[in-house]
Amino acid sequence: LSEEHYEKEVTVVARVDNARVQSAKLAFLMLRQQGQKVQAVIAATEPISRQMIKYTGGLNVNSIVQVTGTVKKPEIPISSASISHLEIHITKVYMISEAAQMLPMQVKDAERPPPETTEEGPQVDSEGTPIVTLKTRLDNRVLDLQTETSQAITWISSGVSQLFAEYMIKSGSRWISTPKLVGAATEGGSGVFEVKYFKRTAYLAQSPQLYKQMCIAGDMENVFEIAPVFRAEDSNTHRHLTEFSGLDFEKTFRGHYHEVLEFAEDLLVFILTQLKERYASQIATIQKSYPKAGDFKLPKDGKALRMNYMDGVALLKEAGVDVSEQERFENDFSTAMEKQLGQIIRDKYDTDFYVLDKFPMAVRPFYTKADPNDKRFSNSYDFFMRGEEIMSGAQRINDIKELEESMRAKGLEPNQEGFEDYLNAFRQGCPPHAGGGLGLNRIVMFFLGLPNVRLASLFPRDPQRLRP
Ligand code: ATP
Ligand code: MG
Ligand code: MG
Ligand code: MG
Repeated sequence: LSEEHYEKEVTVVARVDNARVQSAKLAFLMLRQQGQKVQAVIAATEPISRQMIKYTGGLNVNSIVQVTGTVKKPEIPISSASISHLEIHITKVYMISEAAQMLPMQVKDAERPPPETTEEGPQVDSEGTPIVTLKTRLDNRVLDLQTETSQAITWISSGVSQLFAEYMIKSGSRWISTPKLVGAATEGGSGVFEVKYFKRTAYLAQSPQLYKQMCIAGDMENVFEIAPVFRAEDSNTHRHLTEFSGLDFEKTFRGHYHEVLEFAEDLLVFILTQLKERYASQIATIQKSYPKAGDFKLPKDGKALRMNYMDGVALLKEAGVDVSEQERFENDFSTAMEKQLGQIIRDKYDTDFYVLDKFPMAVRPFYTKADPNDKRFSNSYDFFMRGEEIMSGAQRINDIKELEESMRAKGLEPNQEGFEDYLNAFRQGCPPHAGGGLGLNRIVMFFLGLPNVRLASLFPRDPQRLRP
């Protein structure tokens, strides 16, 4: 409602956020639409009967009603940002869709962030106010999506996908869809889900990697995809899902893979700055529950701070973290190390956004191009937000002989079933290319400073959760 509706008759369809009978002659409704609220008053004046007052004040919370009335200024001004400063004086109420009398949780109780420590936790706080745990919220996700915070988070998520596609299309990239049902689990890395495929076994794709590269070999030059990624990782962490939305791209380059690294950097800066600009009101709403939302530090020059993986290792050492160099060649950073490095970089360089280049070859997949100057390293990079990984990318090997050698070095047999179509793509020539993969849910999570990736997924999937 805005000033233009003042003293005019309006009809709204909204949910009942709250209903109460004040007296035999007066009842109040709080109406809610996409997290925004407006107060409605019904008073017993001709032709409104006392029966209608009782009916209106006794409406089940969450029911969808159609209300007609005149827009007025309330006697006591409303100061809450999420409640309209105008109110409706009701003349008609119709039930559109009635909610059950008992709901598994109250939407208003789910407005507060769930306790961070455990999924179960206490059911009421010290003042006796119900605490809705993350588990209860996710079990009742449809109700949970109705909260002001969830409404805003889902807008941010929609914004990230839109901005990613906008940037890609502007750069001449083609939007592709690659198969999620694949015949062989050849990519390596994380576990894959098996599915029954008539009389055979198929697998759910753990990334579009091999197909993106086959599109490059098919002369598509610059491609991107927004699609589900499946990982059979039995790890219950704050940042891993078994199904997530992947934002992937792959493109050719002329001289150096840093052209693509810089492309990825510009892409992320575009997404992060545009989110702040286009979704300021949603960010402000989310800040009420998660104060760090949108308070995201880019370096002063608007680029990502860039350093090599080994510079990151040196920073950790300098700060007294126990890192053996040998170990660092064989294993990727643990989440704890990533976070420690994030803190060091924030303190030293005042940024939440950086990229590490030149990861050791041993921690990257077989299709990654080794650094021609030092084969222990690779032309590969990870981007980080608030000290945690949001993107991995690399230059890929485009020469068939080099690709076969790299496979053997990783203990893979090029003649092995399942690799033939991928390898054939390189036997007919393929231009130099590089790319990357981002997790949509991770960008939302770290941009908003949410404690758990499940809060940035509509219907999250993890090892325990297959519903709703
Ligand atoms: P991590 O080190 O966190 O396990 P990863 O290196 O295994 O991630 P990649 O294979 O590089 O992940 O996938 C590309 C991107 O996809 C990651 O940078 C991250 O943003 C996202 N991602 C990866 N795994 C998950 C997951 N299980 N749940 C949600 N997002 C994920
Ligand atoms: Mg992983
Ligand atoms: Mg990783
Ligand atoms: Mg990675």
